[in-house]
Amino acid sequence: MKPTLVLVGRPNVGKSTLFNRLTRSRDAIVADIPGLTRDRHYGHGRVGDKPYLVVDTGGFEPVVKDGILHAMAKQTLQAVDEADMVLLIVDGRQGLAAHDKIIVEQLRKTERKILLVVNKTEGMATSITTAEFYELGLGAPCAVSAIHGDNINELVELALADFPDQQEKEDGNKYPKIAIVGRPNVGKSTLINALLGEERMIAFDQPGTTRDSIYVDFERNGKHYTLIDTAGLRRRGKVLDTIEKFSVVKTLQTVENANVVVLVLDARNEISDQDAHIAGFILETGRALVVVVNKWDGLDHYQRDTIKHELIRKLAFLSFAKLHYISALHGSGLNELLPSIDMAYAAAMADLSTPKLTRALWAAVEKHPPPRGGMSRPKLRYAHQGGSNPPLIVVHGSMLNHVPETYRRYLENTFRETFQLEGTPLRVDFKMGH
Ligand code: GDP
Ligand code: GDP
Repeated sequence: MKPTLVLVGRPNVGKSTLFNRLTRSRDAIVADIPGLTRDRHYGHGRVGDKPYLVVDTGGFEPVVKDGILHAMAKQTLQAVDEADMVLLIVDGRQGLAAHDKIIVEQLRKTERKILLVVNKTEGMATSITTAEFYELGLGAPCAVSAIHGDNINELVELALADFPDQQEKEDGNKYPKIAIVGRPNVGKSTLINALLGEERMIAFDQPGTTRDSIYVDFERNGKHYTLIDTAGLRRRGKVLDTIEKFSVVKTLQTVENANVVVLVLDARNEISDQDAHIAGFILETGRALVVVVNKWDGLDHYQRDTIKHELIRKLAFLSFAKLHYISALHGSGLNELLPSIDMAYAAAMADLSTPKLTRALWAAVEKHPPPRGGMSRPKLRYAHQGGSNPPLIVVHGSMLNHVPETYRRYLENTFRETFQLEGTPLRVDFKMGH
């Protein structure tokens, strides 16, 4: 699991600036897709071998309600509750503020690890700037400048010091790992129950801690799968009971750990921003995807047609994924869903040999040569596979910096068709030289 860093602090201390810094290096498989709004509060980052998730809680003002100080908004509390490390950001130019102390008091109650970050310290003598913040009792502060990018790597190193390097370690599990995600009430639990049947009970008896997802193996039509179940979340401590049960962090982690993601949408509700955000995260991680429209029961022809049109229009950016209309409640459509999961898994894990890829590349070039860039034409020599889940195809040659994006897309589509890579995103990269 990627560790989760949660940024907390008064308004204007530089949280969103730091957030942008910390998430800059992410591997985005999709940059700007029309219709896809990014949730700017959650992001991926990486320093060296250490990937992490970052959550920006936004600014919050302490408010007095019924004579009690509610320093933290619900969402902030939930984010803090899910943090592996809370980064408390303070403003090195303004110095220690009364609100900082209030926030620290609130944070203490959550018993989370806290790292104090003094921001805006560019051009200042750090020992002097940070001195007054020792009063917060959080130990030595880490001085950074979010705007200039000073000391950011050191900050991440410090924050992640206690977490092991995340080498992609094989867990020995050969079955496709499936994550079922979607916003609250779309029918995820009902679908999980329908898929697991009896085995569900076993999952329920295991004590789910905050950090652990539950992996449940199940068998259907003679095939084995592993479901990453977040059901444990539902029964957790008091904090979450009062908060919306949906957890973005949990969803992100589940998606990261899966091979195939099943995104569940509700036929009875319009596609919301939250749906689009979740879809965006799935695309960012490059996981294989099957989209399920649930609650298809009890709708008439006209309603179904309208919903289908709407979905196909709004989900154009997920066109690589198979779309299924199901009723989790009645168990209908599940036997069609599983082959799509199999197919997406096979596509995501496909082994593509260099000779085959190169032949497909040459055929594509023969059909449509890349356009001239300036004086000369890019030369595409050969292709090899650089990774899977999602498949990465690396094209080698010269003058490749002149290959336009439209041509990259053309190659992507050609590879997708040639090797029947349905259900998975696909990445085509160019590499100059031999
Ligand atoms: P947030 O409200 O905590 O998310 O704060 P923002 O990231 O929006 O930043 C608030 C203001 O502080 C903006 O004007 C930023 O440009 C500025 N700021 C952020 N980081 C730094 C920094 O490292 N140095 C300086 N001098 N200004 C900064
Ligand atoms: P979750 O929050 O995504 O796990 O959603 P649940 O599985 O708890 O389902 C939310 C509600 O939708 C429950 O009342 C379910 O009975 C109902 N529901 C789930 N699947 C279906 C379905 O296929 N058809 C209908 N009509 N209702 C469903």
